[in-house]
Amino acid sequence: MTTPTSYGFCQLCGERIVKTAASRHVKKCLGTRANKDASLSDIMLIRAQSKRSKRYWLYFGVSLHAQLDEMDRALRRLWLECCDHLSEFYRDKKRYTLAKSKTFDEVFHFDDRPIEYIYDYGSSTELTLTHVGEFRAPLSDTIELLARNEAPVWPCGVCGEAAAYVWDTAARDQRPFLCEEHAHLGDGDMMLPVINSPRMGVCGYTG
Ligand SMILES: [Zn+2]
Ligand SMILES: [Zn+2]
Ligand SMILES: [Zn+2]
Repeated sequence: MTTPTSYGFCQLCGERIVKTAASRHVKKCLGTRANKDASLSDIMLIRAQSKRSKRYWLYFGVSLHAQLDEMDRALRRLWLECCDHLSEFYRDKKRYTLAKSKTFDEVFHFDDRPIEYIYDYGSSTELTLTHVGEFRAPLSDTIELLARNEAPVWPCGVCGEAAAYVWDTAARDQRPFLCEEHAHLGDGDMMLPVINSPRMGVCGYTG
């Protein structure tokens, strides 16, 4: 049983990278930037990943003083926001809610186990946030996106070509994806665009 290799792109240099090499790569790229910019600070490398599909992942450089609230906003903007649902960060299978005013330093200082995140308690999208490392580097923002997965290609259920639409979860059948040519076989109101996000096909999400 082998997991297919997951690729993504470094947001700093644009290079296509393998997920397993992503942390090493972005650290090196930030090091290159550090040579030109002296304003180094302690940062955390945080990976956000979909619980349902490991093909969806993001690497962030995060200032130790950044609050969970800022990460919430970044995740919504990049991946999740459909209609302003509630969200929550927690640890240990929902036993401990983490206040969004907490800083990343407070969350990971004495406990570097991953934390979990849920967006929307109804049609939930759930993520795991992993503390991958800490080092000194210059960031352009308190939370900076450093790398993200390449858009997965989903085959059309009719012809196998790259799909452009997916059925809304509520209406999913045996062939949830359709290409442009076969889009007419779907029910217009129930078709959503294929988006590079773990929220694709959920709650009218259009990116
Ligand atoms: Zn790079
Ligand atoms: Zn929604
Ligand atoms: Zn097709």
